[in-house]
Amino acid sequence: MSDYLVRAASRPVVSGIMRALRVPTPVSLRRANSPFAPDSLSHRRILVGSLDSARLDRKIANVLQSGDADVTKAADVTDDQTAVFDGVVFDATGIADVAGLTALYDLFNPVARRIASCGRIVILTDTPASMDSAAASAAAQAIEGFVRSLGKEVGKFGTTVNAVYVEPGADSRVAEPLRFLLSDYSAFIDGQALTVSADGRAPRSVPTSATLAGKTAVITGAAHGIGATTAKRLAAEGADVLAVDVPANRDALDAVTDEIGGAALALDITGAQAPAELADFCATRYGGIDVFVHNAGVTRDRSLANMSANEWHQVLAVNLQAAVAIDAEFDTRKLLRDHARVVCMSSVGGIAGSRGQTNYAATKAGLNGFVRARADAQRNRGVCYNAVAPGVIETSMTAAMPLAVREVGRRLSSLGQGGRPEDVAEAVTFLSTPGAGGLSGNVVRVCGQSLLGA
Ligand code: NAD
Repeated sequence: MSDYLVRAASRPVVSGIMRALRVPTPVSLRRANSPFAPDSLSHRRILVGSLDSARLDRKIANVLQSGDADVTKAADVTDDQTAVFDGVVFDATGIADVAGLTALYDLFNPVARRIASCGRIVILTDTPASMDSAAASAAAQAIEGFVRSLGKEVGKFGTTVNAVYVEPGADSRVAEPLRFLLSDYSAFIDGQALTVSADGRAPRSVPTSATLAGKTAVITGAAHGIGATTAKRLAAEGADVLAVDVPANRDALDAVTDEIGGAALALDITGAQAPAELADFCATRYGGIDVFVHNAGVTRDRSLANMSANEWHQVLAVNLQAAVAIDAEFDTRKLLRDHARVVCMSSVGGIAGSRGQTNYAATKAGLNGFVRARADAQRNRGVCYNAVAPGVIETSMTAAMPLAVREVGRRLSSLGQGGRPEDVAEAVTFLSTPGAGGLSGNVVRVCGQSLLGA
């Protein structure tokens, strides 16, 4: 399934007619469609600005240089309106007070109309909680409001705006999140504020290509939709993938593993013995696991007053209880290796709430709480737990939505369209890599800055 307006707008004649009729035409987003590569920013024109107090200049320069970007410093910007930028990085670390925010206005005001289509804007700053004065905390928090609002202004051009909050001591872990957010891999991540933490053990090496070579990855719900796409993406990074889905989907599951060369396990993850069966399989075949993606999910939508106990229990069992039980089994049997990455598939519905989805939203909010709790518990081993919260993604799950609800979900986002399974797969894959070691306990929305959950 795909978004018909994006399809239509990609045809020049049709898009011309749409513009003449003033029908909003969503931009066809530029996506990477290839495994992570060190030169992912090749020839991108990136403007770099900073506060005088900022301290990340060398880290930012390294990312841009190694990515082969074409860098312009803020001091060198001219009035030439034809000089456009593919991205902007602003280093607001060390921000001390509200006056410091003026630098944001000074940099962005003159160039706001000079960001190319599908541009990337990333602002780095300190976490408000780490600041030593209320004024500094206020200024650091203000960045989030700025980012979310600018995202709504430039989203119609396919441009995304995100913030990276850097905890004290985490400077060395900023490079890969910055590289990812500046690249085409993050096309549908917009208006987000990620937190990079210094907690726990950092991996010794952080490859920028074949990032999962030699790693084993398990993904549930891998026969269709987001799960199938993510299994393929993890394999493209070099992971040996175990794809899990219900026995009824065995053929579709086999088709996925035939393509990527991994293993398939037909298993209903809600079965009483499922955690043990899965753990036995992994222990025998791999010895240990480096990546676990809890993706399987179902909906049974109905207003609470009309919802049957069965509809409540089914959703709770698949979406939340199975992930918690499997994780506990793998923990007890020490099957998650040091520096493992666990990603849970949440939803913007778990943040905003969603009419007719008390069961579903409860499970997705539950997963957000789960990753935060597990992130705290596993930091000393360098194991990271994060959630990815998709908005409207064009899969069979959204195809089953009432048209009006789907249409509202698509258009009420800054990017004005639904995302693709690949967009979610990119986020999950990035969070699974060694370079994402500073991210744990984050809930990353992949929703084109959907109004839901805003
Ligand atoms: P999908 O229905 O295409 O795929 C879900 C997969 O999970 C299916 O292959 C299904 O067989 C499997 N599954 C269900 N119950 C299972 C069980 N008991 N044991 C093993 N496997 C089981 O859905 P999708 O759209 O690809 O969704 C994937 C995940 O993303 C879900 O967790 C969903 O809640 C979440 N999500 C999707 C969207 C969206 O717009 N599509 C938005 C937000 C969140």
